[in-house]
Amino acid sequence: MSSSLAVNIRNLRLSPAEQPVLRTFQRRNMGDIPGIDNLSAQQRRAMDIVSRVLPFKTNQYICEELIDWDNIPDDPMFQLTFPQEGMLSPSDFAKIAKLVDDKAAQAEIDAAVRQIRLGLNPHPSGQVDLNVPQLDGEKMEGIQHKYKETILFFPSKGQTCHAYCTYCFRWPQFVRLDDLKFAAKEAAAMVDYLRAHTEVTDVIFTGGDPMVMRTDVLRRYVEPLLAPEFEGLNIRIGTKSVAYWPHRFVNDKEADDTLKLFDEIVSAGRHLAIMAHYSHPCELETVIAEEAVRNILSTGAVIRCQAPIIRNVNDSSKVWADLIRAQVSLGCVPYYMFVERNTGPKRYFELPLSRALEIYSGAFRQVSGLGRTMRGPVMAATPGKVLVESALELAGEKVFALRVLQGRNPAWGNRLFFAAYDETATWFDDLRPAKIDPSGGGNGGGGNWFFD
Ligand code: SF4
Repeated sequence: MSSSLAVNIRNLRLSPAEQPVLRTFQRRNMGDIPGIDNLSAQQRRAMDIVSRVLPFKTNQYICEELIDWDNIPDDPMFQLTFPQEGMLSPSDFAKIAKLVDDKAAQAEIDAAVRQIRLGLNPHPSGQVDLNVPQLDGEKMEGIQHKYKETILFFPSKGQTCHAYCTYCFRWPQFVRLDDLKFAAKEAAAMVDYLRAHTEVTDVIFTGGDPMVMRTDVLRRYVEPLLAPEFEGLNIRIGTKSVAYWPHRFVNDKEADDTLKLFDEIVSAGRHLAIMAHYSHPCELETVIAEEAVRNILSTGAVIRCQAPIIRNVNDSSKVWADLIRAQVSLGCVPYYMFVERNTGPKRYFELPLSRALEIYSGAFRQVSGLGRTMRGPVMAATPGKVLVESALELAGEKVFALRVLQGRNPAWGNRLFFAAYDETATWFDDLRPAKIDPSGGGNGGGGNWFFD
C-alpha cells in the first residue's frame, strides 16, 4: 500500500465537533472523575492526601474504558493511575493528613510536601550528574547522552503525559521540583550536538510524553533530523499515548497530521520506532487501541513495547504472557520488561528481583519465538542497563547472573557478571558481587564491582 493511500484509508473524516477531546482529572477536579462515586470516603481522602505529594492525573478514556470499577481497588488500571494510601510511608501520610486536618497554612503544607519528596530519591541512578553532556563547555539542557550511540532528547513542550503512572520515575518533573527537570528549549541545540557527535545513531524523544505535543510542534523537532546529513539516524519516540490516549493516532484533531508526519519520517529513510509503554493487556484490548496500532504500523513505523514489572499491576506470568501475545498478534515487537526504579513510591510497587525473574521466565515459556524478543527483567541502573539473566549455583555459591546490555562505558557492553543471590533484593544497589566471579565482574573477593 502506498503511504498516501494509507493516509486516506486511516482518515476517519470526523468533523471537528465529533473529534474526541482529552479530558484530564487531577486533585483539583477529582469530584468530576467518571466512576469516583465507586470510591469510599476513606479512599477519596487517601487520594487527596497522597496526591499532594505525588503527581496524579487520569483521563476519561482510562476511567470509562480501561478501569473496571467493580474491581476496585484491585483493578490494575486503577492501581496504575490512582494514588493509594500505601504509596506514602505511614508517618509521611500521617504528617500531611494532620496538617490538612488542622487546616495548616499552605506554606507549611508545601514545606512538608517538599521535604517528603526530596526523601523519595527523586533522581535515581545518577541521572543528573552522569549523563548531561556538554558542547563547547556548555551544559546541554534537555539532552542526556546515556550510551555512546544514543541520546535522549526532552522537548520542553513534552514534559507532561495524558495521565500519570503512579510509579513513574520521572515524577519530579510533574511536581515542579524544578531544579531536577530536564527540558530542551530548542531543537537547534540537539542538531548542533548531533553534528559534533557523529557516533550517535539513535535519538530518543522522551518526556513526560512527547506525544502530548501538537504535531506542528513535534514536527519542528523532528524535521531537521530528516536532512540528508543525518541519513541513517534512527528516531525513537517513547510514549504511553498508545495506551492512555490512542485517539491521537485514530480520530482526535491531531491524528491525521501525526500519521502524515510518521509517513514523512519513514519516507525520508529513517527508521521510526514508537517505543510504546504498555503495562497490561487490557490497554491493547479496546477497539480504538487496536486501531491506533494498525494506523501507526501502516506508516511504516515499528512499535516496540516495554513496561516495568509492577506489584498490583502486572505481577504475574499470565499477565505478561497475555500482554506479549496481544502485542505480537497486532504486529508489535515485545522489547523490555523493566524493573521499576528506586524512586517515589517504590515500596508500594517493588518486587524482589528473584520474583521478577520467575515471572519473566514463566511468561517466556508460554509464548512463541515471536514473543521471546522481550528481554527482562532489566534495570536502568548506575552502570547502565543491566539484565537479570538467571539465578544459578556456581562453585557452590548461589548467584544471579547479570549482563550489561548497555554500559555507561561502551566497553562494558554484553559483559556477564555475577552477584550474590539475595532473595529480598529489589534493585541493583541491594546486590553485592558474588564471592566467586570468573568473569572478573567483582574483584573475585566479593568486594567492589568492576565499575566502582
Ligand atoms: S507515561 Fe511515562 S513519563 Fe508519563 S507518567 Fe507514565 S511512566 Fe511517567
